[in-house]
Amino acid sequence: MSGTPVIRLTGVGRTFGERAPVTALHPTDLVVERGEYLSVTGPSGSGKSTLLHLLGLLDTPTRGRYELDGIDTGTLRDRDRSTLRGRRIGFVFQSFHLLPHRTAAENVALAQVYHRVPHAERTAAARAALRQVGLGHRTGALPGTMSGGERQRVAIARALVNEPSLLLCDEPTGNLDSANAAAVLAQLDGLHTRGYTLVVITHDPAVAARADRRVAIRDGVLTGSTGAVH
Ligand code: ADP
Ligand code: MG
Repeated sequence: MSGTPVIRLTGVGRTFGERAPVTALHPTDLVVERGEYLSVTGPSGSGKSTLLHLLGLLDTPTRGRYELDGIDTGTLRDRDRSTLRGRRIGFVFQSFHLLPHRTAAENVALAQVYHRVPHAERTAAARAALRQVGLGHRTGALPGTMSGGERQRVAIARALVNEPSLLLCDEPTGNLDSANAAAVLAQLDGLHTRGYTLVVITHDPAVAARADRRVAIRDGVLTGSTGAVH
């Protein structure tokens, strides 16, 4: 399994609409190996969200093939795609999407896909994920009492709790001041050191620079070290 890339896009493209079609992503090759930290930068309207939705199995390509952990996602039924997404992908968004009346631990526990696992075990897993992001002392805190950086770290813990193959981050520091952004970026560095596979989509060159491999997207065309062999 370790030799199989986490992500392999082969000629993946996405066109919206039929009468006046807009190609948001031109046919793209991209390979992300296990343990890599990749950033994707591009200006507004360049196709970042389109790519993120495809990688996150939230949308399907109009052409090409997307293999996630060696699984050809184009052959899956909707339910199987959802299951794959829940088990293999952790999402971190710009706005943290935490439930305000739930504690940090509850927010993380709710994300677990293994709902048949007893409540006590899920709580333990949530606490462990929070410890991984340095929030072991804040498990009982409500989001409203936490800083933006802490809230985003709860969101990272939530993304980690199912032990995903891929952590997909969309402007993870977009809503943070520089001190909180630095704390979140340090967390992502730490996850990379521990072997997680990260893809960070951002318009901020300073955020992109933290990755060990960078690609750019402009007008739906990916350039840079896409890892694809031609
Ligand atoms: P970014 O996230 O980099 O700002 P997007 O991926 O959202 O860019 O958009 C890329 C291009 O695709 C834009 O021209 C946008 O208008 C178009 N686009 C995105 N989603 C849709 C859609 N659902 N229907 C039609 N056009 C879309
Ligand atoms: Mg966008």
